[in-house]
Amino acid sequence: MTNCQNYINGHWTSPAHSSSLQAFNPSRGEVIATVPSSGAKDVDEAVAAAKAAFPAWRNTPPNERAQVFFRLKNLLEQSFEELALGISIEHGKTLSESRGDLRRGIEVVEFACGIPTLLMGESLENIARGIDCHTDRHPLGVVAGICPFNFPALVPMWMWPLAIACGNTFILKPSEKVPQTMQRIVALMEQAGLPAGVMNIVHGGRDCVEALLEHPDIRAISFVGSSPVAREIYRKATAHGKRVQSAGGAKNFVIVMPDADVEKTVGALKDSAFGCAGERCMAASAVVMVGEASERVLTALVDSVKEMKVGPTDERTVQPDMGALISSEHRERVAELVDAGQHAGARLLVDGRKLQVDAAPAGYFFGPTVADQLDYGNPLVDTEVFGPVLSVLRAKTLEDAILSANRQPFGNGACIFTGSGKAAREFRRQVDAGMVGVNVGVPAPLAYFPFAGWNDSFFGDLHMQGKEGVEFYTKRKTTTTRWFGLGEGEIWAK
Ligand code: NAD
Repeated sequence: MTNCQNYINGHWTSPAHSSSLQAFNPSRGEVIATVPSSGAKDVDEAVAAAKAAFPAWRNTPPNERAQVFFRLKNLLEQSFEELALGISIEHGKTLSESRGDLRRGIEVVEFACGIPTLLMGESLENIARGIDCHTDRHPLGVVAGICPFNFPALVPMWMWPLAIACGNTFILKPSEKVPQTMQRIVALMEQAGLPAGVMNIVHGGRDCVEALLEHPDIRAISFVGSSPVAREIYRKATAHGKRVQSAGGAKNFVIVMPDADVEKTVGALKDSAFGCAGERCMAASAVVMVGEASERVLTALVDSVKEMKVGPTDERTVQPDMGALISSEHRERVAELVDAGQHAGARLLVDGRKLQVDAAPAGYFFGPTVADQLDYGNPLVDTEVFGPVLSVLRAKTLEDAILSANRQPFGNGACIFTGSGKAAREFRRQVDAGMVGVNVGVPAPLAYFPFAGWNDSFFGDLHMQGKEGVEFYTKRKTTTTRWFGLGEGEIWAK
């Protein structure tokens, strides 16, 4: 059992008052950590530390800041397997999924190593006679990040590597459900030589978030979580004068055309819908089978899904295909949605509700589920399930399938499986989503591209990662310079 503490000004500290939350190992249903329920006083302390650390850190040359990230990258590689196992234990996902979570996060650290180039400005000489102009980037000051449970390493690492590399100081509120991964990574940041106060952690729930949103010395908020909360965070934080990027939930549609490669499509669909037990904002949640595609693909998909092994992932030797859901409440919610979906007419081709995992009977497992004969009006289509449930819809044409995909309010990801370049092009141009896959089931962009959700999947302007991340964490200054008089000698007179 770990008693998590806040990390403020380079010290592990207990919060001002003693109430705490509990974090579980979802594979076993056991409490593994207590998590401080921080409030306004703890946030004040963290902000004061971050504010005090800011002047020296912003004046540290970008190449020196980059050196910290080079060292951190090496430390993360050395601790890679240990960190990945820790993710599986607190989250419930399989070890290979935890490795992916961490690997994608390390890629953002690698991207941040290039900060001297990323921060370069623009200049134009002689905008008028004798006058030059240049624009450079400056850090914002103290910035904060608030994270969901589903990627304990990657989502926080969308935020702090670029924020800190840009010269800001940072306050992170990890998900109270997975508090330990970032604690371990912060210890590595200290080893890498990051000065005290540059990175701080405050644990907690809603009170802690409210205090961050309201604090006058926090300049920007990065948020990732469900859409209702993301929308509210955007509203409140902007009302408090902050710059905000707020990523919300998703309902990702996949279109399968009759000419899709059956084996490859089945493999990609299965991975997309059931990887990370469907607790992935890029998961395939609904598939629209166009024309003959259902006959060609659906039987093979169902056969393959029935073979999937679900189980605990807290030991190195165990490698199931799918792990546990995050909590018993969430498992209950997914089961209720499947009940409601069936009641509203869904035909369950694979039903995960009754799954028993003998190796871990107290774990929060829910078997992979495929629900057919669906359309809008059914809760499995209308709602973000965030579990291992794939809804199957039908359409006669590509156009109908795209219209169906565009009816839902989110806009995170959308994919098409087809052998036709024309169909792929039409889809890419018409589908109303920010991240599109063509014969790719999880089109999550890597560190150097923005993670670019649209509509109810994102509130704000500048996305996380990539050059947009650098843009978000910096403000521009434009300097116009004139020196009076000519130089001495003939060349100046010409
Ligand atoms: P959540 O919205 O419940 O919680 C996210 C964070 O907000 C947590 O730190 C939590 O403590 C805090 N929080 C929760 N309720 C709050 C409230 N009422 N006021 C203030 N703060 C509050 O999300 P979750 O269950 O941890 O994560 C799953 C959700 O995140 C899914 O909807 C998923 O699609 C989404 N997600 C989106 C992306 C993306 O890039 N768009 C990426 C990962 C996850």
